[in-house]
Amino acid sequence: MLQKTMEEKEKSYYKGKGNMQNQYDVIVAGGGPSGVAAAIAAARNGCNTLIIEREAFFGGMATLACVPAFGPYTNGVQDLIGGIGREILEELKKGGYESPFYDRKSDRIEGIDWYPIDPEHLKRVLDYLVIKSGSKVLFHTAVTDVKTHNGTIEAVQIFGKAGFQWLEAKYFIDCTGDGDLAAMAGAPWEYGDAQGRVQAGTLCFRAAGIDVEQFMDYVRREGEDGNLSVASEKAKKDGHFPAGETKIGGMALQENGIAGLNFGHVYNLKPLDPWDLSRAEMEARKRLPEMIGFLREYVPGMGHCVLVSSGPYLGIRESRRIKGRYTLTKEDFKNRADFPDAIAYYSYPIDIHGAVPEENQGNEKMYHNSKYKNGECYGVPYRCLIPVGMKNLAVAGRSISSDRTMMGSVRIMCACFATGQAAGTAAAIGMREGGSLELGDVDTGLLRRRLEEQKVYIKNDITLRY
Ligand SMILES: Cc1cc2nc3c(=O)[nH]c(=O)nc-3n(C[C@H](O)[C@H](O)[C@H](O)COP(=O)(O)OP(=O)(O)OC[C@H]3O[C@@H](n4cnc5c(N)ncnc54)[C@H](O)[C@@H]3O)c2cc1C
Repeated sequence: MLQKTMEEKEKSYYKGKGNMQNQYDVIVAGGGPSGVAAAIAAARNGCNTLIIEREAFFGGMATLACVPAFGPYTNGVQDLIGGIGREILEELKKGGYESPFYDRKSDRIEGIDWYPIDPEHLKRVLDYLVIKSGSKVLFHTAVTDVKTHNGTIEAVQIFGKAGFQWLEAKYFIDCTGDGDLAAMAGAPWEYGDAQGRVQAGTLCFRAAGIDVEQFMDYVRREGEDGNLSVASEKAKKDGHFPAGETKIGGMALQENGIAGLNFGHVYNLKPLDPWDLSRAEMEARKRLPEMIGFLREYVPGMGHCVLVSSGPYLGIRESRRIKGRYTLTKEDFKNRADFPDAIAYYSYPIDIHGAVPEENQGNEKMYHNSKYKNGECYGVPYRCLIPVGMKNLAVAGRSISSDRTMMGSVRIMCACFATGQAAGTAAAIGMREGGSLELGDVDTGLLRRRLEEQKVYIKNDITLRY
């Protein structure tokens, strides 16, 4: 990559000034689950907010990678994910929510606590909620560089149809999933396992033409689950299961005979290397007919299903983990740890897909062994959102400060909504002091109270472990 000299940066910085509104209270980079929650929270709390998204719609992996379902919102007892995450779900349920697994009475998806996502509907829901919050929106625009001074980001460079421009803000929130903004600003980060490998990616896809009645008969008769385990085992015995796969990551019936599938892995992935991403996208696409072939042959009701869309972007499970003022660890997971500055609570097991096929069996065991009992949860400290050495930057979503094991849980979309809402609300608290307050100095007692007022679940009733 070409390294720009400081002089060149200065030149383009001043060229960008005057072309558009250049100054905001809060700029959010990335419009995935964490980004939309951060922007909505900051805007609702009175900040002049801009959210910048590289693609043409919000949703991140939920729309961009077609991930078929939101992970659990509850721990079987408490509604752990309230606030904006819950509002998004409720808005989604108002239309286009016809999964036969969904029981409106109990508001549950047959035994499991996962909610199917119709990506087209979700895009509109997120447009609506973000615009209604008052946040400004810039699609088709990537954040490409930053100008920092002494741990303070002064401006971000963006690139879109109008070329390069610089925008200033008092606070910045990195919700790019990859921690791009934090890395550009020089914040420390970690990546992958000891060998520098990350979880495999998946090109999720949607299949249409499912005979729902026949499919549901089969599901109920055989006790089939969202992983289509019965069909998969049969195909494995016949030697017809797609090579390199141990199971289907997940399937969610969305509406009228359409299902989303999280199925198939691309191994040895390097998600920060565009050359490898290009290789991975093509490799994953090439394998889709094999996946459809399996569904047609082995899953009753899917005999005539057709592939309607994939991606449009390879699903990326893991890349950078920012080094924050606190790193959430697997010990915290084991201890069901809570913290005085906890701003989110979650309970999803440790779900790490293999970087290479040989790792999958062991990781599946870890997933099952790490399941919490109903009612249990861990806390996410606010300090995990604040990168070491940075004054006006918070990170939310899957790249918050955690060790690799813990990231296998906090990467789930519900947790990303929660950390995003906390980051946006913290920036708004900072703005009450004109933007001079360092984000690391935000009064976390006040932040927790603000979040509770916004219907976020905050646990107040157990012995705290710092
Ligand atoms: C295959 C797969 C299956 C999964 N299954 C589930 C599941 O079943 N349930 C569940 O809840 N979670 C699941 N997850 C996890 C979850 O989807 C992600 O961890 C979560 O979406 C991360 O949210 P985020 O906001 O951190 O980032 P992302 O969702 O990755 O969003 C980041 C956004 O930032 C934008 N962006 C990136 N760089 C820039 C830039 N430089 N400038 C501007 N914009 C930028 C991207 O376009 C994107 O929209 C799955 C993930 C994958 C990949």
